[in-house]
Amino acid sequence: MKKYIGIDIGGTTIKAGIVNEKGQILYKMVEQSNINNYQVPLINVIKKIAKKITSYAADNDIDIEGIGVSAAGQIDNKNGVVIGDCGNIPGWKGTHLKAEIEKVTNLDVIVENDANCVALAEHWVGSGKGFKNMIAYTIGTGIGGGIILEDKIFFGSIGIAGEIGHIVLKKDGRQCTCGNKGCFEQYGSMTALIREVRKVAGNQFTEINGKIIFEEAKKGNKEIVKCIDSFLDYNAAGIVTLLHIFNPQAIIIGGGVSQQGRIIIKPLIEKVRAKAMPAFFKNVVITTAKLSNDAGMIGAVKNFME
Ligand SMILES: [Zn+2]
Repeated sequence: MKKYIGIDIGGTTIKAGIVNEKGQILYKMVEQSNINNYQVPLINVIKKIAKKITSYAADNDIDIEGIGVSAAGQIDNKNGVVIGDCGNIPGWKGTHLKAEIEKVTNLDVIVENDANCVALAEHWVGSGKGFKNMIAYTIGTGIGGGIILEDKIFFGSIGIAGEIGHIVLKKDGRQCTCGNKGCFEQYGSMTALIREVRKVAGNQFTEINGKIIFEEAKKGNKEIVKCIDSFLDYNAAGIVTLLHIFNPQAIIIGGGVSQQGRIIIKPLIEKVRAKAMPAFFKNVVITTAKLSNDAGMIGAVKNFME
């Protein structure tokens, strides 16, 4: 069976794994990406882990076909260069990922945006298996998405399609990091939920994060339940927009919040049902992602294989 290396570059960790042609992870390692507030440039950490996993493969007589990389930001996937950043990794824009990793590993490298890799992984071996047309999006600091049409990722004209988080849900709404106002991620991301909870219940807690928010909701904290309800309303609005444009068979939701499972999916489905045209709603499955933390690595390998 053929084997590949998958590398997933995120703002907090870099994961590297050996993945076989069936999408199974045989071995993986993790490094912190943010060392002393990026005093060690991220590309150096990436090269280090790339070298480490390649030597591990060599030491264990594992033949590697090549390396798939999943990376944050807008990626020129022909040249493997970061052409737009997400603002939080210093010096990220302009990084020649493909060339740098090829230099230290002597293997072919293909780079793709992380949200597209997650969609590819879910489509291959996750919750999206068997769906020809599906959309996977991740609720996190922002909202990142990948669109699969007729079993293929939809890249758009220059390879950067699928920015679901920047669907405008509120004209002239809240200022977004992209420069526009009123984007989906300003209302439907984890950052947005935390912001709203801080506004109404900030004095009740010293720290607020996703885990605390959902624990409090389960205890019946009314203010927080209301915030979650509004957060789900915006997610439903985003999903309805996607249904009407793409008529997908599945919408798959990833990110930390997806661990809440039915607690968020059930009300979300009801909200989508109330807003979508019936024929679009009837033919879609709305569910949580299956692969969580390993999706980027697996999807990067799938992207390389294709
Ligand atoms: Zn935006």
